[in-house]
Amino acid sequence: MSAESLTYLLVGILAFGFLIPKILEFLQVLRPVPEVPTTLSQYVTQAKLLEAKAYQKDNFRFKLIAGTFSFVFTLVFITQGWFGAIDSWLGGFGLPPLLVSVAFFALIFIGSDLLSLPFDYYSTFVIEEKYGFNKTSRLTFFVDKLKGYVLSILVGGSLLLVFLSLIHYMGEDFWWQFWMVASVFMVLVNLGYTAWILPLFNTLTPLEEGEVKEKLLRYAAEVQFPLTHIVVMDGSKRSFKANAFFSGFGKRKKVVLYDTLLEQHPPDEVVAVLAHEIGHYKKKHLKWGMLISCLEVGLLLYLLSLVLFSKEMSTALGGSSWSAHLNILGFTMLFTPLSMVLGIGMNWMSRVHEFQADAFAKESYAGKPLAEALKTLSVKTLSTINPHPWYVFFTYSHPPLLQRLARLEK
Ligand SMILES: [Zn+2]
Repeated sequence: MSAESLTYLLVGILAFGFLIPKILEFLQVLRPVPEVPTTLSQYVTQAKLLEAKAYQKDNFRFKLIAGTFSFVFTLVFITQGWFGAIDSWLGGFGLPPLLVSVAFFALIFIGSDLLSLPFDYYSTFVIEEKYGFNKTSRLTFFVDKLKGYVLSILVGGSLLLVFLSLIHYMGEDFWWQFWMVASVFMVLVNLGYTAWILPLFNTLTPLEEGEVKEKLLRYAAEVQFPLTHIVVMDGSKRSFKANAFFSGFGKRKKVVLYDTLLEQHPPDEVVAVLAHEIGHYKKKHLKWGMLISCLEVGLLLYLLSLVLFSKEMSTALGGSSWSAHLNILGFTMLFTPLSMVLGIGMNWMSRVHEFQADAFAKESYAGKPLAEALKTLSVKTLSTINPHPWYVFFTYSHPPLLQRLARLEK
């Protein structure tokens, strides 16, 4: 394919990647506000549903503006060959090719982050604030940003360095070599998430003795789940949203409960939420998820290896000669449609897993408290109760609330 047609293809894919999600969101916004279903009548009022719709519309408008901004920006960069211009400019310093690649990605990262910063800020302090979700102080927001940068530079930077070194020094074999590195890294992050990463952003304290802990331990013993570490995370520092999750494999498993979960839900509901999480564990969803992610990374790297050494891709982005980083950038754009298809598959699997975890909680504990917990959670987060089926198909990692309730309350 000639460089010129490749440029057109990239522009086409960029437009496709921008329009499809917007069309789906628009379909979602157009859904009328339904009557309050009987199962939710204790939890939600018509006014609350109208508020949820207003929240959805505000978010849609905001994301449309933010998305259009970044779309136009990228479009100009591609059609004007500015990515290539940055590459030529960096190349002029006489640095080794590896460092030119590192500097290129550092610039792109800083640039795109600075551009999205005002949008992040607006979303948190104007939209989330308006609907009473935001609890983040401006200090926490900026400190989070800074910690995020340090983490990106240390972790992302070293991974990028390994990745680019393999490309520059190993040539075509880079893909399976980096696949090995990335897989080990993913397993390590999963093992150490609560021990190393979470404490950087949150305070974790062991769960206090009391009714909740007793009930959790009794249930865990009944389903023969070795529950030793239960910690409470100060999720309330940032938002009202409540949650619980697991991290680690084998003996190092840790259950993390948001403080908001403990504050807003009676002990039975906390146990039911944990039962759902244990369901994920018992049905091996975490391991499957891990395996599939590893395979996906392998596929991605293999496909990259097919594009990486093409001179046309560099030219298509305005480069004057072959450049690894221009080609990686071009590949990430080229990959968009396939990544959408893979995303649909992953979401579908995730929804199936959610139903299975719900069913496990219902069988091993009870359906009702989980249903109650879901209702409270959804009402608080103003989630849509009649999502558009296409929107669900493409983007929902969890089944819609009413479908889950129907199975839990059956
Ligand atoms: Zn789940």
